[in-house]
Amino acid sequence: MSEEITKPSNFIRNIINADLEVGKNDGRVHTRFPPEPNGYLHIGHAKSICLNFGLANDYDGLCNLRFDDTNPQKENEEFVAAIEEDVRWLGFDWQDRLFFSSNYFEQLFDYAVQLIKQGDAYVCDLSAEETREYRGTLTEPGKNSPYRDRTVEENLDLFARMRAGEFADGACLLRAKIDMASPNVNMRDPALYRIRQGVVHHQTGSEWCIYPMYDYTHCVSDAIEGITHSVCTLEFADHRPLYNWFLEKLNTKNRPQQIEFSRLNLQYAITSKRKLTKLVADKHVDGWDDPRMSTISGMRRRGYPAAAIREFCERIGVTKADNSVEMEILDACIRENLNEHAPRAMAVLDPVKVVITNYPEGQTEELTAPNHPQNESMGTRVVPFTRELYIDRADFKEEANNKFRRLVKDKEVRLRNAYVIRCDEVIKDNAGEIIELRCSYDPATLGANPEGRKVKGVIHWVSAEHGVKAQVRVYDRLFNHPHPDSDKEVDDFTSHINLDSLVLLTESIVEHSLIDTKPGTVYQFEREGYFCADAKLCSEGNLVFNRTATLRDTWAKIDK
Ligand code: ATP
Ligand code: MG
Repeated sequence: MSEEITKPSNFIRNIINADLEVGKNDGRVHTRFPPEPNGYLHIGHAKSICLNFGLANDYDGLCNLRFDDTNPQKENEEFVAAIEEDVRWLGFDWQDRLFFSSNYFEQLFDYAVQLIKQGDAYVCDLSAEETREYRGTLTEPGKNSPYRDRTVEENLDLFARMRAGEFADGACLLRAKIDMASPNVNMRDPALYRIRQGVVHHQTGSEWCIYPMYDYTHCVSDAIEGITHSVCTLEFADHRPLYNWFLEKLNTKNRPQQIEFSRLNLQYAITSKRKLTKLVADKHVDGWDDPRMSTISGMRRRGYPAAAIREFCERIGVTKADNSVEMEILDACIRENLNEHAPRAMAVLDPVKVVITNYPEGQTEELTAPNHPQNESMGTRVVPFTRELYIDRADFKEEANNKFRRLVKDKEVRLRNAYVIRCDEVIKDNAGEIIELRCSYDPATLGANPEGRKVKGVIHWVSAEHGVKAQVRVYDRLFNHPHPDSDKEVDDFTSHINLDSLVLLTESIVEHSLIDTKPGTVYQFEREGYFCADAKLCSEGNLVFNRTATLRDTWAKIDK
């Protein structure tokens, strides 16, 4: 187990190490990632995926992808496909182990019959409201259902008729017979099967009108698949006795061990499928893969590299302590990855025209620019220089002190990868808006300053003749509150939506080399940030870039 040394330990690895030491499970490590296909995966799921697949990788074990599909009304094929795509994109492979809990419906039914025969389950006719009443509270024990002592024969008959479709939704439940006085409410005769008439299941169609409950299904599915360590989030800790009860009563060959860890909460983001569903349904965002969403598909579209998300999951670690992770940690992982891997390019987001009056009309000079300041193996590209250029409006001021290291009237600035220019004249329209800057260039300054001259400012630019128009979608955090869904002051988390989380720039000009950018490619637009060609909105002759992230320290980087 040489890998063990290189990976930081955590309490789950300690458990596994101890199991391996005593030869438990014949030395096997087998985990699973068990999403319910009722929405798209989010950053919290990424943590669970990295953990489960990561453990399997580290211990030469296996990890299954299993859809926990016991609630057909909320599930569908679109979600199944999206989840598969997301897990694969994150870099994990379930090989031939793609499973659905619904694969086991027949076996789950047989196991339920076994429980009935053992006197461990019964059909209960209490209404939903009565069932709630009988359950008791956290401080008071529950009461036995009047149907609890039905005979095995009667229960077998009723359960068969439930399956045959003789009863309406809610008419009865199959329940485990455990202990209505248990201090753990989960043990107070939990439901095993409910009736869902007329529902079409995405995998089993109309074959079933009764569906097994999650708690019953999950442990049995784990046992069937030979899972050794069933890793889940803390809210299931109180369900663990039930998990073990089922497997013990059914005397399954495999006895997976449930281990709980704390779920990921990320500041300024939502990690609840129910709430993400609301954002989509109420059109607060443009679908599940809106680049502002904390979904895996949203992050992918935003341009977050899969490796950066994996690194984030590694960095935050695995514990049992409830916590909320700062957005800066994720941002740092994204920036570190992109700083290393994203090719550089120049793009002018809010253009103003510059005319170099002493540069010949009609001339194009092919200047060379490195694609990465440190990594020479990323090569160079040609950037055409012409008499008319664009620079960013924010990079010019008529008057400014020395702190403004950009272009100022009657002063000099360096054009990145090109010459030093001086602004001689400012031309405005009738409304006083600057429409053109007339500048002169110094031919002796290509690439470096002549001796004894120091021009501090460097700005980016694009040739007006060769630049390509693009739409730039400047994204920011979707919420302006670190805990949008746990703020007691407001009823509705959507009131914390940041209304400036998307600013559309339609006039931007990017350098010519980006004309055939492949959707999904992320560039560093020098001095502006990281931008990803949108995989949905880009089309032939139509470039759309999403802002992936800002640069942390723009000026320090550029002035070097
Ligand atoms: P949600 O609360 O968003 O609906 P869920 O737990 O109901 O999430 P599932 O599809 O059941 O969603 O989750 C699949 C797996 O991912 C489970 O093992 C679950 O524990 C884990 N998981 C879900 N949310 C998080 C999270 N925020 N952090 C870590 N793991 C998570
Ligand atoms: Mg769940």
